[in-house]
Amino acid sequence: MRILVVEDEHKIGSSIKKGLEQENLAVDLVFTGLEGFDLASSEDYDLIILDVLLPGMDGFEICKKLREQQIHTPILMLTAKGQIADKVEGLNSGADDYLTKPFAFEELMARVRALVRRPKKTIGSVLKIADLSLDTLSYLVKRGDKIIQLSAKEFALLEYLLRHPNQTLTKDQITSHVWSYDADILPNTVEVYIGYLRAKIDKAFPEKISLIQTIRGFGYRLGEK
Ligand code: CA
Repeated sequence: MRILVVEDEHKIGSSIKKGLEQENLAVDLVFTGLEGFDLASSEDYDLIILDVLLPGMDGFEICKKLREQQIHTPILMLTAKGQIADKVEGLNSGADDYLTKPFAFEELMARVRALVRRPKKTIGSVLKIADLSLDTLSYLVKRGDKIIQLSAKEFALLEYLLRHPNQTLTKDQITSHVWSYDADILPNTVEVYIGYLRAKIDKAFPEKISLIQTIRGFGYRLGEK
């Protein structure tokens, strides 16, 4: 999952970025409204965390313009304490949720999870295909009863694949949802990580059907075939 954070207070922005990255999320951080609007309208994010008071273009304006452009990425607004009118304006401008500063990181994560990690057609926080399961809260990954240890990036990659089961995903789609804008991506990075994942979830279980399929010339697909 990839998140855009637009926050002009560098200290707050950096600590949000750091905290989200520790939760295996890819994060792009920008400090001005214009940069935020540019990235939000050109890149494909899973969530945008948007401060209200920003230089250049404020959070409400960004939100309104994105919705006008039919960009429906979930938006979490950060508002300053006491600005009760913000709440109303935030929701009117198309934001999905808002959080009042100062906030505890746990509170931010709870909102982020509700907006981004709300699994579709699943029970609780668990994403599943065949006998492979991934718990987005406990980070437990299992095939059958066997626990699989994944690195942070492998986990993020598998989570993205599990959210789009039986769909062919291109390398570009995978890159833009699993890696940050400023990450060091080589032409074969996705291939390499798919290889790591395949070794752990398929090759480690030779008696079971393989779940990761390579669609030559297109990309990858997670499914039971
Ligand atoms: Ca601000």
